[in-house]
Amino acid sequence: MVGATARQGRRIALRGTVQGVGFRPFVYRAAREAGLAGRVRNDAAGVTIEAFGSPRALQGFIARLIARPPQGAAIHKLHWDAIPPEDVASFVIEPSAGRAGRRVSIPPDLATCPECLADVADRRDRRYRYPFTNCTHCGPRFTIARDVPYDRAATTMAGFTLCAECRAEYDSPPDRRFHAQPNACPRCGPRLRVLAASGRDCDPGDPLAFAAAALRMGSIVAVKGLGGYHLACDAGDAEAVAELRRRKRRDEKPFAVMTADLESAERLAWLCDADRALLGSPARPIVLVRRREECPIAPGVAPGSPLLGLLLPYTALHHLLLSEAARPLVMTSGNLSDEPLAFADDDALLRLHGIADLLLVHDREIASPCDDSVAQSIGGGPTLIRRARGYVPLPLELRQPLAHAVLACGGELKNTFCLAQGDQANLGPHVGDLEELSTFVRYEAAIERAERFTGVRPELIAHDLHPDYMSTAYARARSEPHKIGVQHHHAHVVSAMAEHGLAGPALGLAYDGAGWGEDGCLWGGELLLARRDGFERLATFRPLRLAGGERAVQQPWRVALALLEDAFPEGAPLEAFALFRGVPAREIAAARRMIAGGWNAPLAHGVGRYFDGFGALALARPCVSYEGQLAVAWNLSADPGERAALAYEIDWGSEPWRIDLRPAVRELAAALLAAQAPAVLSARFHNALVAASVEVVRRALGAHGRLPVVLTGGCFQNRRLAEGLLAALAPFADVRMPRAVPCGDGGLALGQAVVADAIAGRAR
Ligand code: ZN
Ligand code: ZN
Ligand code: FE
Repeated sequence: MVGATARQGRRIALRGTVQGVGFRPFVYRAAREAGLAGRVRNDAAGVTIEAFGSPRALQGFIARLIARPPQGAAIHKLHWDAIPPEDVASFVIEPSAGRAGRRVSIPPDLATCPECLADVADRRDRRYRYPFTNCTHCGPRFTIARDVPYDRAATTMAGFTLCAECRAEYDSPPDRRFHAQPNACPRCGPRLRVLAASGRDCDPGDPLAFAAAALRMGSIVAVKGLGGYHLACDAGDAEAVAELRRRKRRDEKPFAVMTADLESAERLAWLCDADRALLGSPARPIVLVRRREECPIAPGVAPGSPLLGLLLPYTALHHLLLSEAARPLVMTSGNLSDEPLAFADDDALLRLHGIADLLLVHDREIASPCDDSVAQSIGGGPTLIRRARGYVPLPLELRQPLAHAVLACGGELKNTFCLAQGDQANLGPHVGDLEELSTFVRYEAAIERAERFTGVRPELIAHDLHPDYMSTAYARARSEPHKIGVQHHHAHVVSAMAEHGLAGPALGLAYDGAGWGEDGCLWGGELLLARRDGFERLATFRPLRLAGGERAVQQPWRVALALLEDAFPEGAPLEAFALFRGVPAREIAAARRMIAGGWNAPLAHGVGRYFDGFGALALARPCVSYEGQLAVAWNLSADPGERAALAYEIDWGSEPWRIDLRPAVRELAAALLAAQAPAVLSARFHNALVAASVEVVRRALGAHGRLPVVLTGGCFQNRRLAEGLLAALAPFADVRMPRAVPCGDGGLALGQAVVADAIAGRAR
């Protein structure tokens, strides 16, 4: 017993992701172990603890909270005050204080924890082989949430009545399943079923074993997961993979592969520590890694690519399926190409009919659809390409709080939106390409849901300047009167600044395919001096005339033509390049007329287009099946050992400064005509981009003082470019890139929100 004189009191307030992740039971156990008395409760701001005991025990307790929080919890702020000691004997978990406030968000879905896996593997446990096993450290959250606060009654588990044993766990503070909202067991919880493609129930007795056997025999199985349906097949079976591709009408986009564990992942691909950390993290994203030569995955999984998108199982269902199928499985989103992920059962049946031979389904509804996230390690750290399951709806903490509640509508492709207020920015899940009507419908529903979950009532609507984006149209149609258009690359740069807590000014290199510029041209090779409420355009790339506008994205030969026409004013020997042999002469002639006349040929500054143009020319690929395909192929063909760079010039006299790659085009053309290998040329192209970028950044730092530098825009998914620039700038600049938010258009909305807030503040 602690002596009365030594007894002290502390009130400890914790903010962050501390609800729905087993935080109170964790606090309860830690307090009991430390011999403390007192209480813990959820409240509007997070978790509050009042603890009483010796100063030493209290100190150790606080250190323990910080050092070892449960998986999935994230403490953003811990603050404590001394309070008078109370004469209480034990430590208790108190019921929530009133209605837990809306500021406390629903947690993201978390991968099955080791303890639950042990339960599932234990023959004597009542959850042996139970696919829906979870606890407060793991399991579904966001995807089953219908409303706030996050309580069982407001989830799709509401219809399942806890059996006596589950109820006892749910009610017992020291239990790992204390208040685990989706707690379930085979007696009382969701059940698996197998449906034939016709929708008829198959009743095979053991659905898991049946589906696994079908997969082993080369069938395509639709699997209902956390945030939607997957289409699965044996990843080593070239025929099954080709058949899936055919039925899904997805020509060349890579499929993700789920493999049982880290050890098996090591056998498929080269992993660094950052890859391992990403693969094993509770968010369980798909991680882009380089495949091993001897990797037994069918080449059709990622045609022509040395990369593989790997992920580890994140539900007990996946673990069981992988272990029974005993091989890596393709796990690609359950939809036709370009359509959003299927998640509602009747819709899935309708849409997956004709794709899947069999459906492995269950009766727990998906309330909030959520795609798999996609990550990649760059420079030894994580980056996100797609932020969705496992991350959403975790809010991002803003170091500079906003003055207004803002809805930022995002871009057009790979859209996400952002609802922000105060110091919290809620980035919505990856929605996809809004051009597709069904995706747009999903977008509206996701915004409506986010407004309900966060309680944020926007005063400002932020949108891109592009007049034809569906997100711009959506913003215009909103009833709120106050709308602010934000320049695309300004939003990219400020998004990166906000993530890193930079108030600005900062220098931002924003390299992407295209974004609407203030002059009506397509920007995308920009060096900006950015503040939150404005920017100065310091440098850009020499623009190209893209004959046919948007069509150049699908037909990069048009970009290559623009490069050659620009670099060889006296006329380029097109017939000498293999590329143009694949293009009808009539189309080339028409494109040339457009370029010469400047009609239907907008000026484009995008670095992404330079990748397309150089890649098309060197790899002789006139067309692609999806945006960025050629840029990726060109990037991955680069010889890692090559140090030389293609020639370039920078016009310091123009405003903004202009990076001119015409010398590089001429050098590339000559090298190709001399039959030089594309691998060396690709490396030199990358090296030239790095060198030119370093020059403009160095000059800008000289002119504007020591400012932080951010690298952003979709081009920085290119590992060679990103790592090259990070390394080259680090010796003389504080350089960062987006880590928690995608650098591509999936991160745009965060920047839009911050910029709009700053502009509105300035106007006051
Ligand atoms: Zn668990
Ligand atoms: Zn039960
Ligand atoms: Fe962009």
